[in-house]
Amino acid sequence: MNQMKRKTLIILTTVVGMTLQSCNKDKQTEDSGNKNPLIEAWETPYEVPPFEEIKFEHYKPAFTQAIEEHKKEIDAIAESTQPASFENTIVALENAGESLSRVSTVFFNLRSSHTNDDMQSLAQELAPVLSEHRDNISLNKKLFERVKTVYNDHVIQATEKLRLTQEQRMLLDETYKSFVRSGANLSDEDKDKLRDINKELSVFSLKYGDNLLKETKSYELVIDNKEDLSGLPQALIETAEVAAKERKKAGKWVFTLDNASVMPFLQYAENRDLRKKIWDAYQNRGNHGNAHDNKQNALQLANLRLEKAKLLGYANHASYVLEESMAKNPENVTSLLNQLWTPALAKATTEAKDIKEMMEKEGIQGDVMPYDWRFYAEKIRKERYDLDEQEIKPYFSLENVRQGIFDVTEKLFGLTYTKLNDMPKYHEDVTVWEVKEADGTSVGILYMDMHPRASKNGGAWMTSFSKQYINDQKRMLPVISIVCNFSQPTADTPALLTFDEASTFFHEFGHALHGLLSNVHYKSLAGTSVPRDFVELPSQIMENWAADPEVIKMYAKHYKTGEVIPDALIEKMKAAGTFDQGFATTEYLAASFLDMNYHTIKEPITNDLTVFEQNAMDNIGLIDAIIPRYRSTYFSHIFAGGYSSGYYSYIWSEVLDSDAFQAFKETSLFDQEKAKSFRENILEKGGTEDPAELYRKFRGADPKIEPLLEKRGLLAN
Ligand SMILES: [Zn+2]
Repeated sequence: MNQMKRKTLIILTTVVGMTLQSCNKDKQTEDSGNKNPLIEAWETPYEVPPFEEIKFEHYKPAFTQAIEEHKKEIDAIAESTQPASFENTIVALENAGESLSRVSTVFFNLRSSHTNDDMQSLAQELAPVLSEHRDNISLNKKLFERVKTVYNDHVIQATEKLRLTQEQRMLLDETYKSFVRSGANLSDEDKDKLRDINKELSVFSLKYGDNLLKETKSYELVIDNKEDLSGLPQALIETAEVAAKERKKAGKWVFTLDNASVMPFLQYAENRDLRKKIWDAYQNRGNHGNAHDNKQNALQLANLRLEKAKLLGYANHASYVLEESMAKNPENVTSLLNQLWTPALAKATTEAKDIKEMMEKEGIQGDVMPYDWRFYAEKIRKERYDLDEQEIKPYFSLENVRQGIFDVTEKLFGLTYTKLNDMPKYHEDVTVWEVKEADGTSVGILYMDMHPRASKNGGAWMTSFSKQYINDQKRMLPVISIVCNFSQPTADTPALLTFDEASTFFHEFGHALHGLLSNVHYKSLAGTSVPRDFVELPSQIMENWAADPEVIKMYAKHYKTGEVIPDALIEKMKAAGTFDQGFATTEYLAASFLDMNYHTIKEPITNDLTVFEQNAMDNIGLIDAIIPRYRSTYFSHIFAGGYSSGYYSYIWSEVLDSDAFQAFKETSLFDQEKAKSFRENILEKGGTEDPAELYRKFRGADPKIEPLLEKRGLLAN
């Protein structure tokens, strides 16, 4: 029902050292003396962080102390006079930095879920310190020599190979690779080159992001004639009125290029000329030939990434990035994109015909333009499905949805949930649960933080306060958290969720299960520590249960009457679910192709970026009524974020989750054998094995794309 919307997930708190300025000026709270609860042992139930005792002034000294500790540990490993072994090098590295990891976890988790100005500025202060600490470790020659020795013994010469378990082998591989991928194997001269490239990359990338922000924020569409508002929802008009006032244009209406403004404008504004006007501004961000033009930045980024990849011995940037993914290489990504492209484009072409028909009915001649699509698609949606969100929400109270998730996971995995009332919490709205096996064994602790507040970032994500691992044959319990921003309860109604929110709840709960059911020896391989194109499998598969009519009837009950949601309403929801998916899939895939085009170049790009983009789109035969979801000058995922050669991941994971759910549909949604296999092969394994191998163990075969095509309504009839 939703798609490609980014439900973010995991806060990565990989920490490796840094040097803080000495902190003798930091205040200590008077009553706490020298005790810092972040550093002391946590004598709380389940050793969760002692949230109530932690004060802001504890963070900085704790970071300083923890970094120093970590440095000493690293030095001890690097300077050891013992011959390098798996235990004294790889495991020792894995276990080093325990305090730093604890402090960082609490700090960075709370900076997202319960922050303030002090924490924001401390985070900025810490960023360069942490990154320097990381570099000091990854470029520590003596340390790398020892890692390399162990790697050679076990992998290259294989003399010791048989002594390592699969998981130990993985830990060794990952440790060695992370050094090599940061340039540890390069000559000193090339290391300098790499450092220069990295610096340049970060500058161009920041510049790209800044420009985009300025281009987005500087534009406004001012309307002073009330008639031009025709078609717009009242709430949007009011927001535009407020925006105008703020800009000293009282009595007028201002629309901007923020998605929350431009997208509904394109969807509802009757005035075609105005839609064209704002659309042109939207799709030309960063492409005005002015000081904020992003064409050069994007070009430099693509070319520098190529240079870096070659320096590290790869054919191109995509090969460098994808080595770490489930897809493995650019060919596999392109092959999937190609397979999806044909049916998606065919569906979009049919949808374009419907839109043209609707336009003609209204007396508009000529081609369907990109600024027509959302407007007429919305009209068709209303005409065909007549689905009103307000009618649905009473069936999806937060409590009922949560109970639904509990029931589904009990039926699948035998899990039960007990609310814990006296646990340390960072905010009173948070609830804490103990998750248990059917036989009462504890699985882990789950924090849930469901509603927005001023101190919380937007979006929904899963994170952890401590990761599962095995210590002396004892399974250490993970402490997992999910943080959302769902509709609030009011004075007389409980929190009523949209179906999209309910689905997001299932999604984040799937990530939580990945963390909770993890059963591995090493923290760095636990739970969600898997490639980006695999990590959404456990989460997205839960959305399939959320949306299945059989399951919906289990949990969607009217909050007042307890009446189960009527079949007719489920039918409407289902029918509307595949609407406009040709368009959505096509614009997404076009952007994914564009991403791959930029990052599989073998020689630097010399021509104009506009030409490069046009050629890329001509190659796949994109129709004129649709443009890529992001164009080159505002594709921040790949030029200012961490998604270069990775924009395909969303749909890669969706192929997996659709195919995996199909396994259940073939027999029963709660097939015990399949649930057991999914748990043992996917949820418990974390990053201890190759994900493709794990998937085959679960499914008995590689994933097929048909279930995804069916779900999106893209199968040819
Ligand atoms: Zn997710």
